[in-house]
Amino acid sequence: MKGIVFDIDDTLYCRQDMLVQAAEKVLGVKVGDWREFIRIFYEKSDINMAALESGEITTREINGWRYNETFRLMGLPYDDGDGVLAADAYLELQSHMFISEDMKKALDAFAADKETVLAILTAGESKHQRNKVTMLGLNKWFSDENVIVTGEAGFPKPDVRLFRLMEERLGLSPDELWMIGDNYDKDITGAINSGWHSLWINRRGLPSPEIKPDIEVLTDEELIKALKGLLDL
Ligand SMILES: [Mg+2]
Repeated sequence: MKGIVFDIDDTLYCRQDMLVQAAEKVLGVKVGDWREFIRIFYEKSDINMAALESGEITTREINGWRYNETFRLMGLPYDDGDGVLAADAYLELQSHMFISEDMKKALDAFAADKETVLAILTAGESKHQRNKVTMLGLNKWFSDENVIVTGEAGFPKPDVRLFRLMEERLGLSPDELWMIGDNYDKDITGAINSGWHSLWINRRGLPSPEIKPDIEVLTDEELIKALKGLLDL
């Protein structure tokens, strides 16, 4: 048996484009270097994650703050209210988000394989992340009990206890599990420290880390190919 555990954001679907689009819509200007924009936004995303998971602040508030900080550091013209407006625009774009046809096919293939169990390990506020599962139609491949949201579990990524919780949930041992994610420090470090296999989606082409995942891919094409490879293991 093997368990394939997916992160959601920038793993099952690509949210980077939507984050940039929402900012450009509100500011009325191009953000310039979008990779740098995403880098800063994600760096800021790590700062208040605990308060978000505990419900102290809302996803809207935190995204508004992340946007304002990113605007400031990028030297973009903005008013204090723009961050929250961009967060709202992003939410609106998210309501139209979808997963690619290639990813759907890959999930279909896993779902048809009796030796594979599919699961999700995602960081954030429970309601917000579970809404995404519904909006993306992920219930077709992932049963509710195989979805763990950090906001419900009480441990943040990359806490090993979160990964142990998933092992328990699926009844599988660490060497039977694969973590598929885009965030090296959260998804991949957690998996490696837990004795899991890992596949890192390094879409932004970050420098190769010292402790390597089993598989590293740079593009969505490579990701789909790598997932097919996992099916044959
Ligand atoms: Mg992610």
